[in-house]
Amino acid sequence: MQETPVIVVGAGPSGLATAACLNIQSIPYILLEREDRFASLWTKYSYDCLHIHLPKQISTLPHMPFPANFPTYVPKDQFVQYLQSYVSQFNITPLYRRCVLPAISSIRGNEVLFENGKAHSFDTIVFCTGFRPSTNKWLKGGDHLLNEKGIAKNNFPNNWKGKNGLYCTGLSRTGFKGASFDAQSIASDIKSLL
Ligand SMILES: Cc1cc2nc3c(=O)[nH]c(=O)nc-3n(C[C@H](O)[C@H](O)[C@H](O)COP(=O)(O)OP(=O)(O)OC[C@H]3O[C@@H](n4cnc5c(N)ncnc54)[C@H](O)[C@@H]3O)c2cc1C
Repeated sequence: MQETPVIVVGAGPSGLATAACLNIQSIPYILLEREDRFASLWTKYSYDCLHIHLPKQISTLPHMPFPANFPTYVPKDQFVQYLQSYVSQFNITPLYRRCVLPAISSIRGNEVLFENGKAHSFDTIVFCTGFRPSTNKWLKGGDHLLNEKGIAKNNFPNNWKGKNGLYCTGLSRTGFKGASFDAQSIASDIKSLL
């Protein structure tokens, strides 16, 4: 694997939003996903009659509105269709079956370890792994980022920023709207550091 300055972990809606924003800012990244496809919560693990429960106007990912003919409360199959278009539009190519957990026992300096024992250098790592109360147990070195409940420690609007090149998207329980805001803020912040 080549050295890449930005690692994005998790290809759910937050990870896809982050990837799109990095792409728009021309920042190289790799996107690692433990499953065999993106947005597995929506494509594999949710029930068929699920609808997005907030209006579509405030539920888009950055830089791409829902199609005009979609209903206000978008059903799951159309949301997945939207995500598929999003991935194509922003040329997002996640690396699948790359599980970072539990390979990270700690984040030391600028290295992350994978399950196969290999180390990968990075300048920045963005966690888009979805809210899990256990995240702060394995993300050693992320104490500045998450509180003891696994939620972003800083309040809105800076909930996405940790220290030493660590960021998180979507861990503040603010839904797609919050994840979109986080993703745009993170890409701009990284750009300002380059
Ligand atoms: C049933 C349900 C309905 C919801 N409806 C709405 C709604 O209508 N509107 C709204 O705004 N929000 C809604 N939410 C909340 C939230 O927006 C969604 O949960 C959304 O999917 C969060 O996206 P995410 O990318 O942050 O996390 P996730 O969708 O959980 O994606 C995380 C990704 O990271 C991957 N991953 C995790 N750990 C690792 C690892 N260690 N290594 C590699 N990959 C990893 C996972 O496989 C997954 O693909 C809903 C949530 C649920 C559960």
